[in-house]
Amino acid sequence: MTTVRAVLALGSNLGASIDTLSLAVGDLVDSPRVRLRGVSPMVRTKAVGGPEQPDYLNMVVEVETDLGPYELLDHCQAVEDKHHRMRTVRWGPRTLDIDIITYGAWTSDDEKLTVPHPRAADRAFVLQPWAWMDASATLGGIPVGELAAGADDLSGLTPFEEVRVHRE
Ligand code: ATP
Ligand code: MG
Ligand code: MG
Repeated sequence: MTTVRAVLALGSNLGASIDTLSLAVGDLVDSPRVRLRGVSPMVRTKAVGGPEQPDYLNMVVEVETDLGPYELLDHCQAVEDKHHRMRTVRWGPRTLDIDIITYGAWTSDDEKLTVPHPRAADRAFVLQPWAWMDASATLGGIPVGELAAGADDLSGLTPFEEVRVHRE
């Protein structure tokens, strides 16, 4: 069976974000057709674009899957829905966002599924956890750590060592 490695970016800034991201990773790989190959630390980031809103928790995972790209998108959206993702304000606060950053070497310009994700190369909240997960990763031929270093939002990112988990 042919499988493809895909990089997915997860974000949450509503509700219990640490728990949501943890459960979402489990939900993504709950399908026998999706296996976890890599997981980044979580990072806390200032929201970029959209309305004034709480900080995000972001992370990146790498999966190996035999799902086609649109099947993978449906799967990601089903996991978003399970975590009560609402689609109201574009770039507004949300319980869970899961974006497909890369899907093997496959590329697409389709509005429904643009791959590589068209804004990933400018987003430290994607690139920095990705670089920590996979130091050899590149995007458009450039090391993702290098892209992260040049991203405008890098200063709003708190490295994972400083993310404190508070539980009652
Ligand atoms: P951004 O794409 O800037 O991160 P967003 O993640 O908040 O914004 P959503 O509301 O989650 O945007 O998605 C809007 C639509 O984007 C989805 O319905 C989906 O069809 C489309 N889309 C296009 N390319 C991708 C991709 N690579 N990953 C996920 N969704 C995508
Ligand atoms: Mg997004
Ligand atoms: Mg999205």
